[in-house]
Amino acid sequence: MKNEKIIPFKNNEGISFALTQRLLKKGKKYGLNAIFPFGTDKIVVAEWVHIKCRYGCNRYNTNWTCPPATPVPEKARLILGEYSLALLLVGSKNCTDFYLENGRKRANQVRCWKGTISMERMLFLEGYYKAFSLVGECCALCKECAYPEDCLFPQEKRPSVESFSIDVIGTLRNLGATSTVATHHCQDFNYYAIILLE
Ligand code: SF4
Repeated sequence: MKNEKIIPFKNNEGISFALTQRLLKKGKKYGLNAIFPFGTDKIVVAEWVHIKCRYGCNRYNTNWTCPPATPVPEKARLILGEYSLALLLVGSKNCTDFYLENGRKRANQVRCWKGTISMERMLFLEGYYKAFSLVGECCALCKECAYPEDCLFPQEKRPSVESFSIDVIGTLRNLGATSTVATHHCQDFNYYAIILLE
């Protein structure tokens, strides 16, 4: 997806400006160039997202961070209901590799994944003890996921945003952002992760 506009973050959303800046500094090292605090009531969870994972995605039933290993939509709604504040992390990538299984694509995935988990850890140490990441795309820490055998890096295992049946475009619209689907390999597309905070 190509994101054209996202509302600027507000400092009154329950996280300090200073902490947001420190997170941003860390995130940039991993290709995550923007952070927006927002209320979890803006997150759209939809059954059709789950159906798109189940039918038409070759990751289904192959990765610990994708369905059916992740919560069903009903459970995802319950979990999200235990949070009121979240952070949207945004990165940007080139589409050229999107449908390829190459090392460069995987390196980018791993970089963003590690950045998200690293920021979650930082937030935990800042007192956000409930902090929990929903990461963009599926986990690529291993060249081939060990699923259904035991995960090789369980401390870094998190569900993907999509596996939580989150309608990303609908959620962005709720945040006042417009987004379009990148349709050409020359275009950049945005990467979105969410850290549930409190
Ligand atoms: S760390 Fe490896 S085994 Fe665990 S979910 Fe990621 S790719 Fe799969």
